[in-house]
Amino acid sequence: MNVITTVADMIAARERLPRPLGLVPTMGYLHEGHMTLARCARRDCRSVIASIFVNPTQFGPNEDFAAYPRDMERDLAMLTNEGVDIVFAPTVEEMYPQGFSTYVNVEKVTDVLEGARRPGHFRGVATVVTKLFTVIRPDRSYFGQKDGQQVAVIKRMTADLALGTEIVVVPTVREPDGLAMSSRNVYLTPAERAAAPVLYRALCRARDMHKDGIRDANALRAEVTRMIVAEPLATLDYVSVADAATLQELEAVDRPAMISLACRFGRARLIDNVVIGQG
Ligand code: AMP
Repeated sequence: MNVITTVADMIAARERLPRPLGLVPTMGYLHEGHMTLARCARRDCRSVIASIFVNPTQFGPNEDFAAYPRDMERDLAMLTNEGVDIVFAPTVEEMYPQGFSTYVNVEKVTDVLEGARRPGHFRGVATVVTKLFTVIRPDRSYFGQKDGQQVAVIKRMTADLALGTEIVVVPTVREPDGLAMSSRNVYLTPAERAAAPVLYRALCRARDMHKDGIRDANALRAEVTRMIVAEPLATLDYVSVADAATLQELEAVDRPAMISLACRFGRARLIDNVVIGQG
């Protein structure tokens, strides 16, 4: 496995790779969720590149950019194991050279949910992903359903700007008790870790209600809210039942929808979602 740290070397290397070429963008501190994306790419593509870059522009001034967990050595060993061909791990200066002043703004779908609570977050995500697509030119790019709004934003942006890569969405990988895997789970104390599976339990309850024929979105929001506020260690930020593509809130669940939430447990802000009414 080859580790590349400069844009110039990455552009030269991409030209030599057999196609199709798959890209797995990450911020590192890898877990089984990331590994599943890499495995899907390995299965589908002749060449696989994983990127590791903690992207400063997608963190707000009071967020955890400096504290974000990092372990490059362990990450490289894991990716070698998965048969990844190249790891692109640029420095901040390499991705944002002096004078950098071009950003990608995806409108509307970024106005709600995480976009509303984390101003500038999706501008940072859209900008860095566009740059990765431009430098690497992948045929397929792999993203996790775990970050449901990110998937909607990247799909919108890729279609709007004809970025020429297929977006492959991989189902959320969970711990045995249902907690969605996340690099930020390391922030949880043992008591918070024990309480956190309530998020997925609540989402599953709402999904079951929908399966039982309940179409009133407010009833689903109310049940998820009720279950989570009953957990003393949880501070609920939002519960949403929204159109799966536009993320506009629904009154009636009459189309594919995403039930999503954000919740704080101590230092950790966790997000999770399930998709309902699809297929
Ligand atoms: P991150 O390193 O957190 O930026 O995540 C990199 C990619 O891995 C994103 O596409 C995430 O959606 C995806 N990902 C993170 N956690 C999971 C998970 N538990 N299951 C599936 N994909 C995930």
